[in-house]
This record gives sequence, C-alpha cells and structure tokens, in this order.
Amino acid sequence: MKIFMTGYSNLPEREFIENLKKNGITMVIDVRERPYSRFQKWTSIKKLPDTLYKHGIKYRWMGGSLGGSLFWKEGDECGLFKETEQKVFLGLEKVVDCAREETVCLMCACGDFDRCHRSVIAAFLISDFETEVYDIDKTGIAQKVSLT
Ligand SMILES: [Zn+2]
Repeated sequence: MKIFMTGYSNLPEREFIENLKKNGITMVIDVRERPYSRFQKWTSIKKLPDTLYKHGIKYRWMGGSLGGSLFWKEGDECGLFKETEQKVFLGLEKVVDCAREETVCLMCACGDFDRCHRSVIAAFLISDFETEVYDIDKTGIAQKVSLT
C-alpha cells in the first residue's frame, strides 16, 4: 500500500493542486495542529476542503491525533511520547484504513521533509504498518521515503 505526503510551503494553491493531481491523490489528510496559515490563506480549513472538493479530492483533518507536538525528533532519532502513543497509533490506523480506499496524501506546512513531523509519521507507517511512503516535492515529483 502506498501513502503520499507533502508540505505546501510557499506553493501557490494552483501548483499544490496540480501536484496532487499528478500523483492521482483522491484524499488529503491534514496533519497540521492548526489548520490555517497567516501567509497561505488558501490552506485554511475554511477554504481548502471546498477547493479540493471541486477537484474531486476529499479532505480530512487529523491534526488532533497526528499533529506535530505529539512526536519528538532529535537528529535521526524520533518517537512518540508515552502519553500520546495510543492516540497517535489510532490516528495512523485511520490513515491506513483510508489508504485502502483512497490514494491518500498527508499534508503539512513545511516544505522540508526531514524537518517536518511527517518524516516521523512516515517512519511509523513504514516500520509498523508496512506501507510504502512517498513524499511529493515542490515540483510534484514523488520521492520514495526509506528508513536509513
Ligand atoms: Zn510539519
């Protein structure tokens, strides 16, 4: 099973949507704790779900169970806090469930995969859920994520 990820960074809305379409994404799962941005207004939870819907892409917010503050990362090491472990694993199970039916793309704000908590999510998806994870870069190319 394949799961995609991406960070919209400073991409304009149109290019972001094009990158999703290029990769056949049918559902965006938002993993931002706060689903809006002062600089990228089109990413607001008040707008994005409608925009995606117009392009035939579903939207789901899961920043409550997969948000950045639930994970820790130090250099190459990363993990979960004991108190939030169960919540995060339920979230990951939901993502995998969605990916059975849809071509799912987890979305965060940060453009840099290695500095974003989606790299930690990717590590868990690969090691504990036996999924293949691809990160879509600015230009729309999906790079396979490998655990090193
Ligand atoms: Zn992030």
